[in-house]
Amino acid sequence: MSEENNVVITALTIQRTAFILIALAAVAVLCKKTLSPGRARIRQIDHTLQSISFDCDQTAVYVGDEVQATPVARPRNADVSYTWEIADDGILGVRDGRIVALKSGSTLLGTSSGNLSAQIKVTAKYKPLPPESTLPPLYYEKLMIANYKNTLGADFVPKNLMKIPDNYTAEGYFGLYATEEAFAAYKKMYMDMYHEIKCRMHIISAYRSYAKQSELYNKAVQKYMDLGRSSTEARFLALGTTQTPGNSEHQLGCTIDVSNANNTDHDYHDTPEGKWLAENCYKYGFIIRYPADKEDITRIKYEPWHIRYVGVHHATYMYVNNLCLEEYIDLQKEAETAANDYALENPATVD
Ligand SMILES: [Zn+2]
Repeated sequence: MSEENNVVITALTIQRTAFILIALAAVAVLCKKTLSPGRARIRQIDHTLQSISFDCDQTAVYVGDEVQATPVARPRNADVSYTWEIADDGILGVRDGRIVALKSGSTLLGTSSGNLSAQIKVTAKYKPLPPESTLPPLYYEKLMIANYKNTLGADFVPKNLMKIPDNYTAEGYFGLYATEEAFAAYKKMYMDMYHEIKCRMHIISAYRSYAKQSELYNKAVQKYMDLGRSSTEARFLALGTTQTPGNSEHQLGCTIDVSNANNTDHDYHDTPEGKWLAENCYKYGFIIRYPADKEDITRIKYEPWHIRYVGVHHATYMYVNNLCLEEYIDLQKEAETAANDYALENPATVD
């Protein structure tokens, strides 16, 4: 091969190499362009949780309402599964999967996911009372209380007792009495329940005199003594099912025990009637007197069938604030004391 040919071949090789290099560079540029969105996607699917926090360090809620505290996860699209922890479960509780305020007070609410956590202080308050002018006068008689520490006298007989028509009582439960006001409200509730869910309540107990309560209590004591218990033991055991005379709400005449047609006391809260009653009775002035979550206060086991008439205003306040009668009366007394203290500290000027 001549030297001239060699030069030509070298020139061609350089030319080809340069062409290949340019082509490779072009492919690289093209690849970079098409790969870019892919790289962005890879960054997006990195869902590792970096932190969780709350927007603020405290929040307030009304008793009965759901706590609105939403943790913020970073990155925002991180895989996160929250576990909640309530420091004081007397103040906050879980109802139907939601965290709700049960009574007034402050507690810490914590949430965690993996080994990351955050907490917020939650203060629960009772809903304010309606303005003074819209309140009916406080009916102390309606708010009379008979419980383990408040005893009614043997001579206490409510005013305006009336015989409950037999078509409102369960089969075999005749000759029952209640106060006129309580029965009028019950009748309206009974009609509305039937109208809305086509179910009926049947009254199995209402007013019980002091003498009748004594009879029931003595019978319960005797039952345990017949089983070989001492009279002290028998009296204690009888308290599990029967109130001592003077301590039963039934003596007030505004307390009613209901049942459905199947007479299923123990699971009444699971029946359509029991559910409707729990959700609606306050509209007619009744309260479920012994709620499931207040057993430590009332000292009576949950009785979804035992309703007490207190009037619409008081019943509504107790319902929306999740208060039992003992708590509500304490609250009333506190408000009264505060008003008295204010009046003492700020004497009025009268000409
Ligand atoms: Zn009862």
